[in-house]
Amino acid sequence: MIKENVFNLLKEMPEINPQGEKVTLVAAVKLQTAEDINEAVRAGICDIGDNHVQEFKEKYDLIEGAPRRHFIGRLQTNKVKYLLGKTFLYHSVDRLNLAEELSKRGERAETVSDILLEINVSGETSKGGFTVKEVESAYKLIKKMPALNVKGVMTMLPIESDNAKLFALAKKARAVYDGLNEGNFKYLSMGMSGDWRLCIDAGSNMIRLGTAIFGARNYN
Ligand SMILES: *Cc1c(COP(=O)(O)O)cnc(C)c1O
Repeated sequence: MIKENVFNLLKEMPEINPQGEKVTLVAAVKLQTAEDINEAVRAGICDIGDNHVQEFKEKYDLIEGAPRRHFIGRLQTNKVKYLLGKTFLYHSVDRLNLAEELSKRGERAETVSDILLEINVSGETSKGGFTVKEVESAYKLIKKMPALNVKGVMTMLPIESDNAKLFALAKKARAVYDGLNEGNFKYLSMGMSGDWRLCIDAGSNMIRLGTAIFGARNYN
């Protein structure tokens, strides 16, 4: 199943978005076994993203094929030390003190981390991230931090059945990305199993898929 899902996704996914940027598929691996993750990697997945530091640590040595490791979940500052130097890209930098901690620890370890600024485009209070209003001033502070490279923006769209509304929010995220980009950005991480096609159409170049690869998650 996983193998077929990956084959089909890689076939169906456009290689480039309407802006002409290469689209990267990150497998969202929360709650998946190392065995299933390895099957996805063997089928062609080159990037995997974790949500929970505990799971990341437990499975770290069991993952084969050296996929690039992403961190996509909410990150507590006291857990940064477990990820440092092992993470290709931190998607979910959603507050200043997390950026400060990543940079401070990175300086000590002589590791520069690539990060994305998480933005909350829908304004839902349940969602993390900088508001569209505050992200510019946050970016100004964060880009000066010595051990960080800001590589773009990440967002999670709301659960919303009205595709026109979703598309408008996705376009808004792309506009924020373009507005902040000083030529240094590479990734707009936006799109999950339910909305990835629309997100790529709106200018996403990095999608994070769990269910579409592994099937429905078992939370028991
Ligand atoms: C779980 C998760 C995903 C993937 O969600 P699916 O709907 O299963 O594709 C993507 N991004 C983040 C941050 C997630 O936590």
